[in-house]
Amino acid sequence: MNYYDDNFGNWNMDDDPEETRRFYHQVQRESVETVCSICERTVMLRPHYDKCNSCMDALESGRIG
Ligand SMILES: [Zn+2]
Repeated sequence: MNYYDDNFGNWNMDDDPEETRRFYHQVQRESVETVCSICERTVMLRPHYDKCNSCMDALESGRIG
């Protein structure tokens, strides 16, 4: 089972599947349609986020910014 969302990217459910799955679904419930401030895609993000996971990755690795 592969879990992905725009807030955190890929989820590893191996360590604590029950707990992690619950958190994943909570994140999904909280997420709202948001236009990413970098790539301008419409993504599902938690209300206080304004950048999608792939842009955050790019920022952190210095590819953009
Ligand atoms: Zn983005």
